[in-house]
Amino acid sequence: MQSEQTICRPVESSGVGLHSGATVHMRILPAPAGSGVVFRRTDLDGFELEAVSRNVARVSYATSLMKKGVFISTTEHVLSALIGCGIDNAIVELDNLEVPILDGSAQPFVEAISRAGIKRQRRSRTYLRIRRELELREGNKFIGVYPSDRYSVAYTINFPHPLIGKETFRVELSNGNYIREIAPARTFGSREDEAAMRHMGLIRGAARENCIVLTRTGIENPPLRYSDEFVRHKILDLIGDLALLGKRILGNVVADRAGHAMHTALVSRILRDRTLWEQTTAEEAQETESSRVQSQLQPVL
Ligand SMILES: [Zn+2]
Repeated sequence: MQSEQTICRPVESSGVGLHSGATVHMRILPAPAGSGVVFRRTDLDGFELEAVSRNVARVSYATSLMKKGVFISTTEHVLSALIGCGIDNAIVELDNLEVPILDGSAQPFVEAISRAGIKRQRRSRTYLRIRRELELREGNKFIGVYPSDRYSVAYTINFPHPLIGKETFRVELSNGNYIREIAPARTFGSREDEAAMRHMGLIRGAARENCIVLTRTGIENPPLRYSDEFVRHKILDLIGDLALLGKRILGNVVADRAGHAMHTALVSRILRDRTLWEQTTAEEAQETESSRVQSQLQPVL
C-alpha cells in the first residue's frame, strides 16, 4: 500500500499574482497525515481554507477558493504540482489573496517541493476510484471520467491560432510523466484580448516572464517549451482543479475544450454521487510514488 506523503521541511518563494498583480510571499510547509492541502492567509491571522470542492468560489480564468469571505485566487498551478509530485498533505501559506504566478507553469512549485524533499507518512493513502463513467457536455465543450486503476488525463483544445489549432495530449500520472511532460507547460494569453481582460480587472500581473504571449500570427516570447505547450498547460490546470476532490483519483479523465468551470463542475458532480466511486487503499502501480518522483526530479533540476 502507498503511504501518504508530505514535504520534509518548509520552502518559500515570492512573486506576483497573475490577476491581482499583488506581490505575495508563499511558503509550503509539511502537514500531518490526513490533513490534505490547506491554504493559510498569514495576513489574516492565519485563516485557513481547505483545498476542497466545497470552498470553490469563482472559476472564470482561474480557480478561486473562498470561505467566510476570505479568498484565495489562482490555486490550480500549485495544487497541480503537489498532486504531480505525490504530495497528499501540505500547508500553503500566503500573505495576500493570490498564489504567485512565477513563470506561469508548475515547474517552480515542483522545484520547491524537490528542495524540501518528500517524506512518507504513517498512514495509507486513500484513493477515490471511479466505478462508473460520468460525462458532462456544454455546447461543444466536454469532460468525462471513466473507471481505471490508474490516473490518466487526455485533453483536446481547438484554438483559432496558426501555432495552435487542434492539439491533443494524453498523460498517465506515473513514472515521473507529470514532471517531464506537464509541469513546465506555461499559461498563455493573447495580446489582442489583453486590453479587455485588464479592463475586467484581470491579468494585472501578466508579463512576458509569466505567460506565453500570443500575437495574431505567432508568439512574442519564443521559444515554446514544447510545440504543443498549450494543451499540456490545460492538462496542468485540470490536474490542479481535480485536486479539489480532496483525494487522489483513480480514473481516466477526458476533456475537450473544457475550462475551470467544467473541471470544477466535474469534481462537484463526482463528490455528490456516491455510486460513481469508492474509496480504496489499493496500490496505484508497481513502484512507489516517492521513488518515482525522487528519481525523476534529479534529471529535471
Ligand atoms: Zn493555468
